Amino acid sequence: MHDSSLPGDNLIIFIIPFLFGAVVGSFLNVCIYRIPLGMSIVTPPSSCPNCGSRVPFYLNVPILSYMVLAGKCSSCKAPFSARYPAVEALTGLLAAFTFMKFGPSIDALIYFVFLSALIVITFIDLDLQIIPDVISLPGVALGFAASFVLLDVTVLDSFIGLAFGGGILYLIAFGYHLATGQEGMGGGDIKLLAMIGAFLGWKGVLLTLLLSSFAGAITGGVLMYAFGKGSKHAIPFGPFLALGAVLHLFFGEKLISWYIMRATGF
Ligand SMILES: [Zn+2]
Repeated sequence: MHDSSLPGDNLIIFIIPFLFGAVVGSFLNVCIYRIPLGMSIVTPPSSCPNCGSRVPFYLNVPILSYMVLAGKCSSCKAPFSARYPAVEALTGLLAAFTFMKFGPSIDALIYFVFLSALIVITFIDLDLQIIPDVISLPGVALGFAASFVLLDVTVLDSFIGLAFGGGILYLIAFGYHLATGQEGMGGGDIKLLAMIGAFLGWKGVLLTLLLSSFAGAITGGVLMYAFGKGSKHAIPFGPFLALGAVLHLFFGEKLISWYIMRATGF
């Protein structure tokens, strides 16, 4: 008798997409490093930024090779950032969760592409406070195209989502500029929320904005407490938008029905 709740089965449906995701994650590391520099993401193969030596193929295993090499280049011993295996592990986890939620489907594949774009955007924004148009703008088009296939998002919903996502942040930024004379939200955030709207629809935009503002406010408060009020820590908003979108993708319906239950008393 086949019992699908055996822990062994769960482990396999977790591990296989995790490994696939971790391999993609090591490609995302290349994208995070090279896209802002305008370099090709295909050639040349990865090499040590210090001595330029190529990573031998047998050591090019995500996460594991970092551990085997103890985080150092195999020829010059220069340390590699722990962020490389962290991005690989994060991508692996998100691939596994996507597979577990959406099953072996086109939807899972589309959402995994979406999540991969969010990972690249998050780390580039953390490093450089920019969100490259070469990711967000094709992302808007791809999200809209995907709505013709996706089960959870209709074409109209995607269109309203991308217009709403792009428009609402533009209005906030415009209002902020009028009120303070300062540049608040970056144009990159606006295009990112348009991309999120294209993939998740208008409800996704609302929940993403809500969750990201909440997470951003908490983080800002903690940083202010830790570094003092005077410190002007530029916190990029892109990673919070990305986090909000991820939460919506995995827990959106639950959060929305919980909120409706609370608000209506049912
Ligand atoms: Zn080296």
